[in-house]
Parts: sequence; C-alpha cells; structure tokens
Amino acid sequence: MRIVVIGGVAGGMSCAARARRLSEDAEIVVLERGEYVSFANCGLPYHVSDEIQDRRALLVQTPTSLRAALNLDVRTGHEVTAIDREAKTLAVRTPDGVATLGYDALVLAPGARAVRPPLAGLDLPTVHTLRTVPDAERIRAMVAGGARRAVVLGAGFIGLEAAEALRTRGVDVTIIELAAHVLPPLDVELASVVDAELGAHGVHRRIGIAASAVELSPNADHAAEVVLSDGSRLPADLVVLSVGVRPDTALAADAGLALGPTGAIRVDGSFRTSDPSIWAVGDAIEVTNAVTGLAGPVPLAGPANRQGRMAADAILGRTVRPAPVLGTAIVRVFGLTAAMTGASQAALAAAGIEHFTVHLHPGHHAAYFPGAEQIHLTASFAPEGRLLGAQAVGRDGVDKRIDVFATALRAGMTADDLAELELAYAPPFGSAKDPVNMTGFMAQNVVAGDLALWYPDELDDGENDALDLDVRSRREFARGHLTGALNIPHTKLRDRLADVVAAADGRPVRVLCASGFRSYLAHRVLSQAGLDSASLSGGLTTLLAARPELDLATD
Ligand SMILES: Cc1cc2nc3c(=O)[nH]c(=O)nc-3n(C[C@H](O)[C@H](O)[C@H](O)COP(=O)(O)OP(=O)(O)OC[C@H]3O[C@@H](n4cnc5c(N)ncnc54)[C@H](O)[C@@H]3O)c2cc1C
Repeated sequence: MRIVVIGGVAGGMSCAARARRLSEDAEIVVLERGEYVSFANCGLPYHVSDEIQDRRALLVQTPTSLRAALNLDVRTGHEVTAIDREAKTLAVRTPDGVATLGYDALVLAPGARAVRPPLAGLDLPTVHTLRTVPDAERIRAMVAGGARRAVVLGAGFIGLEAAEALRTRGVDVTIIELAAHVLPPLDVELASVVDAELGAHGVHRRIGIAASAVELSPNADHAAEVVLSDGSRLPADLVVLSVGVRPDTALAADAGLALGPTGAIRVDGSFRTSDPSIWAVGDAIEVTNAVTGLAGPVPLAGPANRQGRMAADAILGRTVRPAPVLGTAIVRVFGLTAAMTGASQAALAAAGIEHFTVHLHPGHHAAYFPGAEQIHLTASFAPEGRLLGAQAVGRDGVDKRIDVFATALRAGMTADDLAELELAYAPPFGSAKDPVNMTGFMAQNVVAGDLALWYPDELDDGENDALDLDVRSRREFARGHLTGALNIPHTKLRDRLADVVAAADGRPVRVLCASGFRSYLAHRVLSQAGLDSASLSGGLTTLLAARPELDLATD
C-alpha cells in the first residue's frame, strides 16, 4: 500500500509518522513544496524577535532524520499540481521536472494561505507575510538592514506576535485593524486590556480602519507608505501582512472534491473527503465547532496534529472518534497572556445561543503571597449552567485556567462541576478557591437566582431607567463615578436601605463596585429586602474596559 501525504508540516507529518508506527509495510511518501518539512511555524515570530536565534532550532526534523527514524520517503521541493482521481495519480513539479506518482491512499494537508486583500501595492518588496522559515529570514534581514518603521496589517494572533517581535527588536510599529478592537476573537472587555499593553510598549494602533494601498515612498527616509481609508499615510520600511488565513484548497477544488461554504475541504468523521481514497486534515478542512455546532476551518496546530494522527489510524483500518473543535488558543503580548476556549460572547450572540456571562478579576494566586497578579476572566454559560466558553487575560496563571476550562468544556461540565473541581493549591500557585472555582460559584449563583447581573452594554439603555448605586468607599467614589450614581458603601447599606428605596422611587437598582464582589454582597442585601436589584458583572473594571470612551464624574 502506498500512502502519499501532500504537505509536510503539522497535520501531514503527524499523519505520516503515525502511519509508519502502525504499519511497517506501507510505503509512505511525503511531498512538500517548500524547502523544509516538520518546521515549527508557531516559533517563527520568536525567530524574528531573536528569542530563537538559531534558525536550525525551528527545523524539528529533516528528510534524513525522518528516513532514519521512520523510514519515510520525504521529498522537499515537490509541489503537487494536480490530482487524477480516476487514475489515482498525482502530477508533481519536482526540481528535475514534472513527475507522476500513484497512490492507494492520499492525504491532503496543504494548510492555509495568507489572505491577500485586494489592495494595490502588496507585491512591493517591503510587504511580507510570516508563514515560512524563509519569510522569517527575510523579515529578520530587513530589521538587520536597518528597517526602522513597520506597519502590521491585522491584529490577530500572528499580527500581534509579529508586532511584539518587531518592537522587541527596536522597530517603531503601528498595527492597523479593521475590526472594532485588537485580537478580534477576544471579547472587547478583555481585548482592551491587550490594547493597553501594546500601547504601554510603544506599539501604535489604528483600530476600526482599513488600509487601502501600499505605495512606494517619494521620501528617501522610508521605503513605502501605507495609505489608510481615511486618507492618512503611514511611513514604513517594512509591512507585515497578517489579515488572516484561508484554507489552501485550490488543488482539492480542481480535483472536484466537495468543499464547504467557507471553501474548506469537507471531511467525514474519519477525515475522509468526498473521494473514498482521499483524506484531508489541518487548516484546509472544515470542522464542527463544539459549542456553536457551526462548520468552518480552525487554523490551529493542536487540531491539525491530532487530525493527522487520526487520519493515519482511519487509513490503516482503525476506528477514530474525533471530538468537535473548541478553538482553544493563547498568545503572549509582551507581559500579558491572552487565551480563550469555546465560544466568545460575540460568537454565542451571532449563533443565537442563549447564555449569560460572568466577569471576575481574581488574583492568580493567594493575595497575601507576594507577586499575585490579577487575571481578567470571563466565562459564558447556558441558562441551566453548562459551560460554553471562557477567556482570560493576565500576567500570570492564564494558561493554566484556560486549559482547565478547555478540559471542562470537553467534558461537558456545568457551573456545579467547576465549583467542585479540586485543583492544586498552595499560596505560591493558586487559592483555596481557585479562579476556576470562583467562576463556578458565580455561575451557580446566577442559575440559582441568587445573583442577577447587569452588563456594560445596558448602561445607556434609556428604556431601562434605573438607580445606579455605587457601593465602593467614599474615597473610591470621589476618584471617579457614573454621573448621577448614589454612593452608599456596602458596609453602610443595611442602615441606609430607606435612602435606596427613596432614590430608586420604584425603579430597579443597578449596583456597582470596582470588581463585582461588593456589589454582589449589596445585591444580596437589597434583593432580600424586596428590591429589584442587579450587580454589575465584573464591576467598573469590566465596564471601563468594555467602554473605554466613558468619562467618569469626579464631582
Ligand atoms: C507564524 C505562525 C504562528 C503560529 N502560531 C501558532 C500557535 O502559536 N498556536 C497554534 O495552535 N497555531 C499556530 N499557528 C498555526 C499552525 O501553524 C497551523 O494551524 C498548522 O501548522 C496547520 O497545519 P497543517 O498541516 O494544516 O498546515 P501547515 O503546517 O501549514 O503545512 C502545510 C504544508 O503543505 C505544503 N503544501 C501546500 N500545498 C502543497 C502542494 N500542492 N504540494 C506540496 N506541498 C504543499 C505547504 O508548503 C506547507 O508547508 C501559527 C502559524 C503561523 C504561520
């Protein structure tokens, strides 16, 4: 049996290696059009930043090492240009001309391509993508050659990593993002924390605006200018194009394989395409989102590697049971970590899934132990308490919490389950009530009706006229508060209930504090006194992050 794999990086190489471990008899050929196989594309930004100084560290395997360890026939510089499904042959452009290669089982792992929007000037030598080792080398060479100003188009994961890397090298960086905030998969109240970190490290951001062209500069001081849709022009010696990726499926489309509406290759539960002799994995395929149930590509290394492994199992006769994809992802932005799993609030709203969200800002370990860092955390739940997604931003402990949430999501856990998770604790590592437990407690309270929440987008809801009751201390209130808010510190509330009743005058009471804890305590007092009250989820910390334009009164 000859198994031919197209694409020799994450999904393709996982598939080839697993196939060999299952079968010593199969002939396994990997065709890769690039110069390298099995390279660490996720490490490329850190080569640009010089944290990974030696390019060889990114080259996890070579054709020689793969031949020696796994008896794989790995051919770099081999690009498949056509699939003849009837004859079961491939047309391959090789360094020695065009060749034909037959297959019994074919695996497509061609990955994704950088999206190239229809902008004039993207072919200028100043413009680069960051997808391959040669791309990273070219960007490094430009920095070493004196590039002083860079414009990064797109503030997604790779755009932010590129911006951080270039800034670390001393380049003046501006990020352009068309969406309403940086890192669009993150909900706005967390994305603004990331935005502030970029600003603190001197990265300029132009948000909610499009680039309309890249032009050669008339000025000898810099190579190019990026023209924005408002007519402004940004000088640039280097432009990084990172506005997203698209499944690289021209080959599959030409061969008549079924594609989904997003252009990704359709596969069944064992990664078989519409042709029974062809399997497909990785960035090029359509997967089902575990929370929304929507189909589409999820360009992440973990799913690609696991799919490659399972495709090999399926080809060699084993039963596979792939789980729907959660889209768990993480990125470092200077001193911050931002991570997410499952559905964001925006994705839940777009999919019409009923949910509620809790916001909290716990320390990453016990507050009394030196060095506690605040985590900004959101988690969404179905009305009956099933976890639907979680996101977090902070300086420490974010990765651990999001991985616990990802595991909980995979297990179908609820608020009750999160509350009962027994997680490792000693003061330098966590809290007896870990942030994950706290999230569960809050959601339990909502499900039980013990906690009613209000959210930043309700602030200007004229139809929902309410009394804003700020239960912080007088000093905190004086430093900045919502216009018209009544201040009664939570410790005084029991004695001043009559004042609240009078000020509310039949309206609901929207309670707020700094982070949502004191307002929860106040809400319990008010609701047990028969008042219609709700506590601001995440407090002013979340409100100001979600609504950065808001001016607080200081009268
Ligand atoms: C800069 C960067 C940073 C990233 N960081 C992360 C991260 O931190 N975490 C994360 O989860 N994911 C990250 N990713 C995404 C991750 O690398 C991809 O999701 C993953 O590599 C996809 O695996 P794949 O096998 O589908 O495609 P790839 O790994 O991209 O491999 C596809 C290969 O197929 C080859 N190919 C395509 N067509 C042909 C053809 N016709 N003939 C021969 N060869 C062909 C291509 O040359 C390519 O080498 C990052 C990606 C990049 C570019």
